[in-house]
Amino acid sequence: MGKKPETPFPSKDRPLQDYFEQGELVGVLTTQPLDRVLDYRAPEGGCHLGAFVEVPLGPRKVLGVVWGAGRGDWDFAKVRSVIRVLDVAPMRGELRDFIMRAADYTLTPLTAMLRLATRAPGLGDPPSMRKVYRMGHGRPDRMTDARTRVLEVLRDYGGLSFTLKELADQAGVTPSVVKGLVAQGTVQEEDTPRDTPFMRLDAAHPGKALTEDQQAGAAALRAGVASGRYGTTLLRGVTGSGKTEVYLEAVAECLAQGRQALVLLPEIALTAEFITRVEARFGARPAEWHSGVTMTERRRIWKMVGQGGAQMVVGARSALFLPFMDLGLIVVDEEHDSSYKQEDGVLYNARDMSVLRASLCDARVVLASATPSLESWANAEAGKYERLDLTSRFGESVLPQMKSVDMRRENVPAGRWISGSLQNAVAQRIAKGEQSLLFINRRGYAPVTICRACGHQIGCDHCDAMMVEHRFLKRLVCHQCGETKPMPEACPSCEVEGKLAPVGPGVERLTEEASALFPDANVVTLSSDMYASARALKEEIARIADGDVDLIIGTQLVAKGHNFPRLTLVGVIDADLGLQGSDLRAAERTFQLMRQVAGRAGRAEKPGLALLQTYQPEHPVIRAILAGDEVGFWTAESDERRHAGVPPFGRMAGIILSSPDPQEVFDLGNDMARRNGPLRAVGAQVFGPAPAPIARIRGRHRVRLLVKADKGTALQPALRRWIAQFRIPNQSRLAVDIDPQSFF
Ligand code: ADP
Ligand code: ZN
Repeated sequence: MGKKPETPFPSKDRPLQDYFEQGELVGVLTTQPLDRVLDYRAPEGGCHLGAFVEVPLGPRKVLGVVWGAGRGDWDFAKVRSVIRVLDVAPMRGELRDFIMRAADYTLTPLTAMLRLATRAPGLGDPPSMRKVYRMGHGRPDRMTDARTRVLEVLRDYGGLSFTLKELADQAGVTPSVVKGLVAQGTVQEEDTPRDTPFMRLDAAHPGKALTEDQQAGAAALRAGVASGRYGTTLLRGVTGSGKTEVYLEAVAECLAQGRQALVLLPEIALTAEFITRVEARFGARPAEWHSGVTMTERRRIWKMVGQGGAQMVVGARSALFLPFMDLGLIVVDEEHDSSYKQEDGVLYNARDMSVLRASLCDARVVLASATPSLESWANAEAGKYERLDLTSRFGESVLPQMKSVDMRRENVPAGRWISGSLQNAVAQRIAKGEQSLLFINRRGYAPVTICRACGHQIGCDHCDAMMVEHRFLKRLVCHQCGETKPMPEACPSCEVEGKLAPVGPGVERLTEEASALFPDANVVTLSSDMYASARALKEEIARIADGDVDLIIGTQLVAKGHNFPRLTLVGVIDADLGLQGSDLRAAERTFQLMRQVAGRAGRAEKPGLALLQTYQPEHPVIRAILAGDEVGFWTAESDERRHAGVPPFGRMAGIILSSPDPQEVFDLGNDMARRNGPLRAVGAQVFGPAPAPIARIRGRHRVRLLVKADKGTALQPALRRWIAQFRIPNQSRLAVDIDPQSFF
């Protein structure tokens, strides 16, 4: 026996057998939480490497993928047979590689990765059919008005087929009328597969006439896609500079090459607007993949992507795990957005994983942002990524002017947050018929509810977090675990009635203040929890864009890429909010958020103004924002991080231990910190254990260890050896967070 491989799974360097005869041993990776590939016998008719199969596991049938030859270390007589091969395209080598590499990188079990890649229901079901109706040849025995209307509809839509409901509705008849015509052969009933291909996108459909700046960017991106080789480009440009127009040119090139394109967006609320743009650009709608999409549609997309019936997918981070047939381009829009990092279950960063997947399938990556992450900026500086800059805004629009409002001089009364200066600026806009936006990154009415009799603050029963009052919902809500309860009359601690008082502002309370200050203004609140559905939110955003609103009060939801042409003033209520945490990325986040929010102002022809209310106008981050000095900010911030040896100039991993029993997690944490040989061997350090910043979530106590190492360190293998030394008690959980984004 040679050296034992790191994982028992075949790698790219070993030639793989790609077909297995009936009865041969195959290794099947299932979606069940077992940490190995299981042996089975190939079924009648054999099976291909990568085939999706159904296998028996105990009393159940489970989904799996043929991952390679069987290991043969199982009692041969007991090995069971694959039940059947599913009627879907086998998983391609590229996706298998990606899953393995992503699992290795994030220290996630392969089975959990496979679950991510199979998140569509009913993959094993026989291709489902549905009945459709079209014009037939038979003569009806008699004609009625209703029958005539049905035939008219079919004639009008020449040759198109309808579902029963569509046809009946269109003709204004009951389904039985249609059925009657079917019996006569006048209408023909046919079966067609339910999972149908998407409409073809027309890559040659002309786009907008681009400015010189945009043309140069588009040409560079097109050339990259046309090369058919991996490469990543950071597309930087202020909000409104036309980044979307430019990367749609890369999509056009990709489609023209006959390859598939994936565009990731950070927020579901943005997809509707974007899809409309794609439709205008290419004459048809792309596939749309996110949590708001129905199960049947998910299965359709999953299958069509795998067999080339979908050319373009627009979606959330999990779209990265779809079984593309030939993925040629991945666009990560607003690449700095923290929602690309999945913070529960499999902890991965979709931006980084996009780069990995593209490198395995010879695809290009475009990372688009007005305010890139420090990681991407550093990668561009180091020459790993190409960088394209769009320097001016499209058309007349100019970047807003930025000013601070020094709150130390404003004498704002207690319980109010809008300064006199900001109030005046808003009043002027209202007088001119322009829109203003007041931004506060806090949902709900007030972040804290205190009892004025005993001083008690209402906290969550399951978490170390305050309950946040939501007047709109008339409840207290824990933003950690989602627990809600009605607002009590009496203090839960001293039982005195009528003494509970809100402390601090949330978006709802700010709306109250603004409505009182501007009684005649049309004020709306834009916060993710105030809309029952993505559609309601979308309608509200459209209404704002149409200009029917004077004052928008919003959370970070408004910071993301919407277009409000009549907006000329942005007031940031608390620019210091993001600077308070002990978070490594606090400065970076604040900088990005403030720039994004400010970018909402003056997108059309009217110039914009952004006012930042702050108690520390001399703070370096606030100064860099005011000066619009991006390069200055990044340079200062990267010097600081380089000095501290933290990402992207060093490597980090967080270990989060959690258990209902606080003693148990601390004991385990201490043991892990002590027996750190495998980490020391590669020069990595362990810090902690310390209570996590939120020390209890959903009744589980949380302890954190932090591992730091130099940039070049092969950290994952060392982490794996280190963790393998410990037995994790039954009720405890251990999660590894590679490149942690935030420390909660
Ligand atoms: P970004 O993605 O950088 O924020 P967009 O691509 O959304 O910018 O462009 C901002 C606005 O300007 C959009 O309404 C877009 O349609 C318009 N626009 C950008 N470039 C052009 C162009 N060359 N011709 C016409 N309209 C353009
Ligand atoms: Zn809670």
